[in-house]
Amino acid sequence: HAKGRGRGRYELFDADLRDDVEERLELATALRRAVGDGELELVYQSRRTCGDRRVTGVEALLRWRHPELGVLSPDVFLPIAERTGRIVELGDWVLRQALADLAELGSAHANLVLAVNVSARQLVSGRLPRTVGRALAETAVAPHRLVLEVSEHAFSDDPAGARQMLQELKELGVVIALDDFGTGWSSLQYVRELPVDVLKVDRSFVADLPGEQSCGAVVASALGLGHGMGLLVVAEGVEDAETLEVLRGMGCDEYQGFIDGEPAGLDAVLSPSFPLTQ
Ligand code: C2E
Ligand code: MG
Ligand code: MG
Ligand code: MG
Repeated sequence: HAKGRGRGRYELFDADLRDDVEERLELATALRRAVGDGELELVYQSRRTCGDRRVTGVEALLRWRHPELGVLSPDVFLPIAERTGRIVELGDWVLRQALADLAELGSAHANLVLAVNVSARQLVSGRLPRTVGRALAETAVAPHRLVLEVSEHAFSDDPAGARQMLQELKELGVVIALDDFGTGWSSLQYVRELPVDVLKVDRSFVADLPGEQSCGAVVASALGLGHGMGLLVVAEGVEDAETLEVLRGMGCDEYQGFIDGEPAGLDAVLSPSFPLTQ
């Protein structure tokens, strides 16, 4: 106990803790206004075939342009949004905005799919099928063009509930991707029973692929499992040509990563001149 370490220590510990709580409370309050004040924005990352690097889709990634703190990444504010329940409202906004962005492209990119990340709390809120159905109807986007990415971690708290929700979402005709594959709830039996269409291999295994033998083993088993179940396998976090070459050799279907540039506005990411480093 901190108190046992003397008065000075106790106060130090206390002050640290208070700052931390205050910071989080401030962010939580600011986050409540962020949606209405138009401080949220989406950037996009392309998803491409490993073979000829053709763009097959884009993933929407959320950013918060905080008036004082600048652009915040989801790792900073999503945990707060999750804890406060604000994530449901945020998630609704992301879905509508991303679908509207896609709809605005019109027939120019008619085959492009759009991936939107969905958090555990959103998934089990029970509202998602209705929200998704409504957003699809409003934007007239075909359901099979929407990929909902659910992190493997979403299944740790309430696996049965999460699976039930995925089933309902599938009935809308949308595509389901299992995100961060390999880092969370990885019972093979469980994965086999999930109504998923895409496996996204977590970038922690992809990053060290050329050098680290154990990463190669993880990616190879993800490919074996995914292809064995008839799923599309996507590697995330590809930063260089060497990694892409290894993935290509292993028979990986598609990839995403900074090799194609940092996530950016949709038009920029889809422009033919968007920086390809190789
Ligand atoms: P994720 O869905 O696994 O997204 C991939 C993350 O890895 C993104 O970070 C992306 O910018 C980053 N990344 C992609 N390629 C590379 C690469 O080659 N190298 C490196 N170092 N990083 C790469 P970001 O945008 O910070 O998002 C982090 C996580 O936050 C996402 O992981 C996702 O779980 C969550 N997230 C993002 N947007 C949303 C959203 O709209 N809703 C929800 N619920 N979660 C979101
Ligand atoms: Mg994702
Ligand atoms: Mg991922
Ligand atoms: Mg990831």
